[in-house]
Amino acid sequence: MSDSTSSSPQELSPRIRAALSRLPAYVPGKPASAPEGLTAYKLSSNENPYAPLPSVLEAVREAAGSVNRYPDMAVTELTNALAETLGVPAECIATGTGSVGVLGQIIQSTCDVDDEVVFAWRSFEAYPIVTTIAGAVPVTVPLDAEHRHDLDAMAEAITDRTRVILVCTPNNPTGTVVHDAELRAFLARVPGDILVVIDEAYLEFVTDPDAPDALAIWREFPNVMVLRTFSKAYGLAGLRVGYAVAHPEIAAALRKTAVPFGVNSLAQVAAVRSLEAVDELEERVAELVKERGRIADGLRDQGWELSDSQANFVWFDLGEQSSEFSAECEQVGLMVRQYGRDGVRVTVGEPEANERVLEVAQRWRDTH
Ligand SMILES: *Cc1c(COP(=O)(O)O)cnc(C)c1O
Repeated sequence: MSDSTSSSPQELSPRIRAALSRLPAYVPGKPASAPEGLTAYKLSSNENPYAPLPSVLEAVREAAGSVNRYPDMAVTELTNALAETLGVPAECIATGTGSVGVLGQIIQSTCDVDDEVVFAWRSFEAYPIVTTIAGAVPVTVPLDAEHRHDLDAMAEAITDRTRVILVCTPNNPTGTVVHDAELRAFLARVPGDILVVIDEAYLEFVTDPDAPDALAIWREFPNVMVLRTFSKAYGLAGLRVGYAVAHPEIAAALRKTAVPFGVNSLAQVAAVRSLEAVDELEERVAELVKERGRIADGLRDQGWELSDSQANFVWFDLGEQSSEFSAECEQVGLMVRQYGRDGVRVTVGEPEANERVLEVAQRWRDTH
């Protein structure tokens, strides 16, 4: 009561932590809308354009009959399926409500107030949000001229407050990967008490032979963990399930900080069934990779200078013109993701959507 002598109890309002007022808002992808007569395409959230596999849908339908029950809190079946698929001990798997959920668990498990989390920028928008919510401090290191992680600068950004370093490869939104040799050289410079998270949300789309084998690196480095998701290549964004591969003590900490029963029963069966259907899913991924190549080749032929995207999206480095380009896309029914005055990210979608991306991009070249 001491510092509120002039207010009556009813005039006070509940106190919200100051950290929350420093939060950048997460901008969800715009829903699709189009002028009359034109199909709209949502290319703003890096979603998989394919509907769920019939076998996955069937499993979800069946599981829906039991949603009066809590899910398996230990996520046993999915954990075991992942352990077997990846060839890692089950104690090294931790699941969460999307890999963003797991990311929140990582920061909560490692950071006290004013501890630092280092990551590249631009990178995934959720990074500054989960960091700030935990009361920790985001330390951003600009991407280099090719829109790639500047790992030397990231190593130099380490202080004695650094607890976590996030390496996003392929990087959202620029699509670039770090290479195996540079990642290893970087890790050799990182003190062992700092957790390095390799975020591989787009791993399945990678074709660059120099990209790291993150699981091999995880096996070698006790301070490395890997973050993956069923939201992108596996097409389960709406069910919210992701996972970490981490050394046992870290995985145990992630389980402690998980929302109890967070990974729901529909998500669990869908993820298990998807692992069983990996061949069918890989065919779809291969199609999307082919479409990415078609878009990138087409754009380069038009004269665009593109970063080397290894994910299911392309990055238009448009600077000040980003909002104008994004508006032109919307006018033809393409919902894209504009990043302020940095650029525009466009997800690889259905072939007709991709065709329209090429048309808009050509028109832009012709008129600018
Ligand atoms: C989409 C994405 C994720 C995954 O998000 P979910 O919470 O699993 O849907 C994680 N990291 C990056 C970089 C992403 O772009």
